[in-house]
Amino acid sequence: MAKFNERFLDLKESYLFSEVAKRVSTFKEKNPDRDVIRLGIGDVTLPLGKSVVQAMHSAADEMGKAETFRGYGPEQGYDFLRVAIAGHYKEIGADVDADEIFVSDGAKSDTGNITDLFSADNTVLIPDPVYPVYVDTNTMNGRNIVYMNGTAENDFLPMPDRGVHVDIIYLCSPNNPTGACYNKQQLKEWVDYALENDAVILFDSAYESFISDSELPRTIYCIEGAKKCAVEFCSLSKTAGFTGTRCGYTIVPKAIKSVTDDGREMSLNKMWNRRQTTKFNGVPYVVQRAAEAVFSEEGQRESKAMTACYLENARIISDTMNELGIRYTGGINSPYIWFECPFGMDSWTFFDYMLEKAGVVGTPGAGFGKNGDRWFRLTAFNNKENTIEAMKRFRGLFENK
Ligand code: PLP
Repeated sequence: MAKFNERFLDLKESYLFSEVAKRVSTFKEKNPDRDVIRLGIGDVTLPLGKSVVQAMHSAADEMGKAETFRGYGPEQGYDFLRVAIAGHYKEIGADVDADEIFVSDGAKSDTGNITDLFSADNTVLIPDPVYPVYVDTNTMNGRNIVYMNGTAENDFLPMPDRGVHVDIIYLCSPNNPTGACYNKQQLKEWVDYALENDAVILFDSAYESFISDSELPRTIYCIEGAKKCAVEFCSLSKTAGFTGTRCGYTIVPKAIKSVTDDGREMSLNKMWNRRQTTKFNGVPYVVQRAAEAVFSEEGQRESKAMTACYLENARIISDTMNELGIRYTGGINSPYIWFECPFGMDSWTFFDYMLEKAGVVGTPGAGFGKNGDRWFRLTAFNNKENTIEAMKRFRGLFENK
């Protein structure tokens, strides 16, 4: 019998969303007349922009004609999209060459797959709380994981510990689940730390389009030195409603190196290209044309309008937190609001309490790491009407207490 990769046995069972779904369905069975508002899962609710859909239609028509039909495309993505993404980087303050951009089916796959490039004996630094994919994929590879604490004291933005050496660092800004966002000076400290330690930063910028404060960095490459030490992952999922359409991109700068046991420097750009050409056959042409449309003038207008809707919902939620004097992060440059559970409850107790009393569903912070045990995530991914109603009910929790 083939031997199983026992590293998978080290994975913690992920109960989070299945447990949330189970508790909601039990509640609905017992209370069929109660209307439940969901501000839990991080999936978008608004449809694709018109110009994006139009581009998909045209591309589908091309695929239906012999003269314009396309078979396998380049594994790295079509040039038209790589050039459009490079143009976007220019707009957000960084120089990225088209051949440093790898188009993918999303940031989840790439943040997981990048681990292929690194030896299992690297030490990995991961924030807690955080998007769970980083922990699970490194556990599958059997890597040593060191955690850095995100707490109210550091505004959920852990900073480097200069006395400790690590090889690989995950940063996510704006963060899921906390919504916290590093400023340029803080990112510079991370870049300096990485350069001093010959470490690689894996920077997840999936929520960059929610940054409305022009002083905050939308890419790590606006920080000097970052192109020598950081790989960046981004996605159109939250930016343009592509969670079901699937398109992301990863930047692997040509200047960034890793080292072999016998001291040879390897180009991560070349090796990622090698990895992708072996294991990946590219994103559908139709989807890449849709993605290209996102970066057009009209597409950008549509995406900004979508983000503005979600940010308005986020404002409604953070206004409520302010009004009630609840500690929170996020909500300004992020679709997430991360708040301290009221009434001294832990996050699962508060989940049940809010569902029972208010019929509102959120996500217990405990699902994102031990530091989330007494914190809770609400998302702006719903419509305004539901968000207002959810916050009315939320306030009610305090009136009746
Ligand atoms: N990175 C973060 C921080 C996320 O929160 C998510 C999705 O929720 C992803 C990556 C995955 O994005 P994609 O849909 O591009 O796979």
